[in-house]
Amino acid sequence: MPGVKAYKFKLKTNPAFEQACVFTLDTCRELYNASLQERRDAYQINHVSLNYNSQSAQLPGIKALPPGRCRRLQSGASRRSAPLSRRRSTTSFAASRQVKKPGYPRFKGKAFFDSFVYPQSGFSLEGDKLHLSKIGSCRVRLSRPIEGGIKTCTIKREADGWYVVFAVECNQSRFIPKTGKAAGIDLGIECFAAVSNGERVENPKHYRAAESELKRAQRTVARRKNKRSNRRRKAINILARKHLHIKRQRADFHHKTALDVIRRYDHITIEDLNVCGMVRNHHLAKSISDAGWNQFARILTSKAANAGREVILVNPAYTSQDCSQCGSRVRKSLAVREHRCINCGFVAHRDHNAAINIQKRGQKRGARASGMGYEARVNREESPTIAGHPV
Ligand SMILES: [Zn+2]
Repeated sequence: MPGVKAYKFKLKTNPAFEQACVFTLDTCRELYNASLQERRDAYQINHVSLNYNSQSAQLPGIKALPPGRCRRLQSGASRRSAPLSRRRSTTSFAASRQVKKPGYPRFKGKAFFDSFVYPQSGFSLEGDKLHLSKIGSCRVRLSRPIEGGIKTCTIKREADGWYVVFAVECNQSRFIPKTGKAAGIDLGIECFAAVSNGERVENPKHYRAAESELKRAQRTVARRKNKRSNRRRKAINILARKHLHIKRQRADFHHKTALDVIRRYDHITIEDLNVCGMVRNHHLAKSISDAGWNQFARILTSKAANAGREVILVNPAYTSQDCSQCGSRVRKSLAVREHRCINCGFVAHRDHNAAINIQKRGQKRGARASGMGYEARVNREESPTIAGHPV
């Protein structure tokens, strides 16, 4: 099944290349901010919604202004990536009006605009040499082969250097032999995942493990009072690298766990969790964010789709309260880690019981879906979210 896959590589930059990239970033950022402001004013003053096309039409006009005005915006560097910065402000603006959650798009400061995109052309990759129009060329640390045609090229600045991300259209799916097995998975904090067959995946708690180190780095930043000093900038970079390291550790863990799961099971059921709602519970916020369930679910779903596996999302309500054997509801607080049914006498670890419940819901859901005559890659129940889900 066709999909888009991202390949990310580190760039072996030189100072001139970096400078050109920074210049382009600034240009795109200015353009983004300007178009956001235009939209905001148009909407607030005249109640008119501007769209991507109408704003794009102004670009040639901006370029034609006498030199000296909007010099950056006129420069060639902006030409390729400009549409994407506009597009970005379009999508964030549209998102903010559709649903409440994403929030109103903000004006971006220097530290909050870290990437620009070549949407179609303007870049080429010959061997390990990347050519970017109006910027220059640079070697890429090709750490794995690219399979498929490159669609877009994104240049990204991170705390430890510059990266290129290629979006590649892949038509081949990964072949993993069928196992004929199904599993329900309960994501938790105490153990990261409990499988319905009784297996457990421990939670590595990367953030918790590095917390004292982070605190120290954060204190160093706080001690550097002069906002524009080099020493403060360096301290911020050290802190950012530590956060980056944790982020990568977590992503690595998620990828490995997800691959292991799809290798072993054909049908995988997980809860459709409302993580945003749950993070509002500030007693658990840090632990929930550290576990990164949303990212794991996303990785699992995309890997499964690529390998022809099925991921079923089910309603998480009462999965850890109900008895998986007789169905009676056994009320317990979060602190009670053992499920002990007073009706049928079934005793199991709380998460294991929940995983069995999840698998049963998935089975029911899968049967219903195939009865209706279609096989859905991802089945979603109608009213999936509840605010205070017991973990
Ligand atoms: Zn029971």
